[in-house]
Amino acid sequence: MKPAGFLCKIDKLGRIVIPKPIRKTYNLNEDDTVELFTDNDGIIIKRYGMKCTFCENSDDLTNFKGKPICSSCLKALSSK
Ligand SMILES: [Zn+2]
Repeated sequence: MKPAGFLCKIDKLGRIVIPKPIRKTYNLNEDDTVELFTDNDGIIIKRYGMKCTFCENSDDLTNFKGKPICSSCLKALSSK
């Protein structure tokens, strides 16, 4: 996990606001569902049901020209 470069405060109902640049990068819109994952380092928030455009892998996704893509497909694309 790498730092996203944003600090968020939790309000009294336990809510946080995901900063707009992050929502844009991960194509998170109003009423979208996110899934929470936990490990020893903390909490990971992922768009629920988001899969790689090419291989349907749901791990390690980034945004490539507005589409989710996994790190191995991204590597394959960029090595051409
Ligand atoms: Zn992929």
